[in-house]
Amino acid sequence: FNEIPTDYPVPGRTVVYDTSQAIDLESVPLHGGILLKTLVLSIDPYLRSRMRDMNIKSYMPAFQLGEPLQNFGVGVVVRSENPAFKAGEYVYGVLPFEEYSVHTQVEDLYKIENNHNLPLSAFVGTVGMPGQTAYCAWKEYAQAKKGEVAFITTGAGAVGSFVIQLAKRDGLKVIASAGSDEKVAFMKEIGADVAFNYKTTNTSQVLEKEGPIDVYWDNVGGEALEAALGAAAKNARFIECGMISQYNVKPYPVMNLMNIVGREIKIYGFIMLSLLPKYRDAFYAEVPALITSGELKLCKEDVSKGLESAGEAILAVQKGTNTGKSVIIVADQ
Ligand code: NDP
Repeated sequence: FNEIPTDYPVPGRTVVYDTSQAIDLESVPLHGGILLKTLVLSIDPYLRSRMRDMNIKSYMPAFQLGEPLQNFGVGVVVRSENPAFKAGEYVYGVLPFEEYSVHTQVEDLYKIENNHNLPLSAFVGTVGMPGQTAYCAWKEYAQAKKGEVAFITTGAGAVGSFVIQLAKRDGLKVIASAGSDEKVAFMKEIGADVAFNYKTTNTSQVLEKEGPIDVYWDNVGGEALEAALGAAAKNARFIECGMISQYNVKPYPVMNLMNIVGREIKIYGFIMLSLLPKYRDAFYAEVPALITSGELKLCKEDVSKGLESAGEAILAVQKGTNTGKSVIIVADQ
């Protein structure tokens, strides 16, 4: 991490690819820990929020200038001095953006004991942090009743595509939006009853025709949130998952806030890490099996190769030009 961005992160400046440091894999000291080879890294919207001044406090620490970025990833154990891990085992957790890394703190690294014949990249997508976000918060806050109407933004992404399918499984009518016609086609494929491109179709008009909405899953904030507030049913639940339209620009002044009072809207903001302990076991028991049985579709992937592609991949997610769950394949095995 090389420079704090003032708006959108700039590839090659915000993040630089540095090949100056190498470790000797045979002799690097492990201090009782494990040596991991990084295979897959996830690129997620929230990485932008960690590219800030260290003094600004938030739910996740700021990245340190001069240090590698970190995010959820999958690695394979190369050497181990910890009896709980063996060479060749696959591990999911927060990894530095490095080809190899030594971990002495292993409490938050999870072995992938059974890959259910899924690609390892699925474990940072629908079977990883974004999938857990969708699963935990839907179960915790949606209070879904058959026949209700849900509106889901960024519906072709890692979180949104899972939410669409959870809402359909609960018997709701699903309205979903995304930023390209290709994404609209995918949202229909996975079950959305009404899917539209918010760049070419007016969100308020769609919601007026297809709503009112009982559950709003907000991934974008800004104008979409304003439209959802305008189309909310009495006692609607708003699940405030993210506001990606606001991460790089001057905040949009959202109108329609008085509807929160008049329509008795319940607003739930959350950070998935707070919900995960409650749902983790159920998630891993249920979700991989649903995917292998074909009942739950993985979202499309947007794959970049090699650590040197990190800067471009991070920018693409912030700009919304990614075409699915953004992952970096750092090494094949
Ligand atoms: P996605 O894979 O959906 O990628 C980001 C997408 O955001 C883009 O593809 C783009 O889709 C959309 N986007 C980008 N810029 C804008 C914009 N200006 N206006 C509207 N949409 C935009 O990401 P995830 O599924 O990983 O994450 C979805 C949301 O969930 C994010 O807001 C993220 O911050 C949040 N999140 C929250 C968590 C929590 O604990 N609360 C945990 C994980 C994620 P499109 O083409 O549709 O515009």
